[in-house]
Amino acid sequence: MENIRNVVIIGSGCAGHTAALYTARANLKPLVIEGHEPGGQLSLTTLVENFPGFPEGIQGPELIENMRKQAGRFGAQYQLGHVVSVDLSQRPFAVNFGKETIHARTLIIASGASARWLGLPGEKALIGHGVSSCATCDGFFFSGKEIAVIGGGDSAMEEAIFLTRFANKVTLIHRRNQFRASKIMLDRAQHNKKIDFLTDTVVEDVLDPSRKEVTALKLRDVKTDKAWDFPTSAMFLGIGHIPNASMFEGQLETDQDGYLVTTNYVFTRVPGVYACGDVQDRRYRQAITAAGSGCMAALEAEKFLERAGQ
Ligand code: NAP
Repeated sequence: MENIRNVVIIGSGCAGHTAALYTARANLKPLVIEGHEPGGQLSLTTLVENFPGFPEGIQGPELIENMRKQAGRFGAQYQLGHVVSVDLSQRPFAVNFGKETIHARTLIIASGASARWLGLPGEKALIGHGVSSCATCDGFFFSGKEIAVIGGGDSAMEEAIFLTRFANKVTLIHRRNQFRASKIMLDRAQHNKKIDFLTDTVVEDVLDPSRKEVTALKLRDVKTDKAWDFPTSAMFLGIGHIPNASMFEGQLETDQDGYLVTTNYVFTRVPGVYACGDVQDRRYRQAITAAGSGCMAALEAEKFLERAGQ
């Protein structure tokens, strides 16, 4: 069989690059398949101030590029492409992307999760300029400003509460008047004097891409149909994440929201297949925790190959 790799890593965010660094330094010549969002969520943020080692902070895209260079220096190889399906019932495992199939003795899944966006006309151009899906990453930039948070689940409540550390006022905008959020989180948000609620309200657009900053949201009350412009400096989305795990359907276990299920941090039910980062972590979802689990997956892959005599 041609084209057999010791380690194939699916995904090139923090978890994937860290797994690549460790397996490359173990001389396993990993191949990283970059996926449809090379660099993952870090490539969508601006200044990262909570990744240890950068006292002045570092731009997300620069951090991820540094990780890639670091792994590359030890022989990690990168290939553009998006995995369509895998076959874990055979060994080596088959990884299919486009017209090509690669075979892997071990597989590290680091395909991440993509923030759910609203799909508004002005939204994409303003990501990193006032539109964000990560309060921990970007909240600090809006100190003393007014911020809108979209969503009615625990993520939205958590973001809204967290953002009151910085903002003068946070308005939580939700499309219904009932909330998915747990009672305790909802209570906390409702008792926070800095948080206002706008329910039965949808966002129809975000302004102003031509100024490269958020100035207002176009809102509509779904009950009265009244539409208006709502001035704000930022729009944070807390409408959920979508784990990128559809290509493993039927082969690996997922939870009710599609996250890969792991035991002992990174083990899937298939020996030699490990999952790390946001595709299996619904709880922490931080760059540093993704990097940590990428390291764990790499060390386990290394041990697996050692035991198999590779
Ligand atoms: P979620 O519970 O699925 O809530 C998503 C929210 O976004 C819902 O209110 C939903 O509205 C809204 N939404 C989705 N798509 C929308 C759209 N296109 N336009 C407008 N609104 C939209 O997601 P989550 O809040 O990320 O939570 C996911 C899981 O993680 C939950 O199990 C949660 O408990 C857990 N979590 C826990 C914590 C914590 O305990 N500290 C923190 C964060 C997350 P509808 O209600 O109308 O559908």
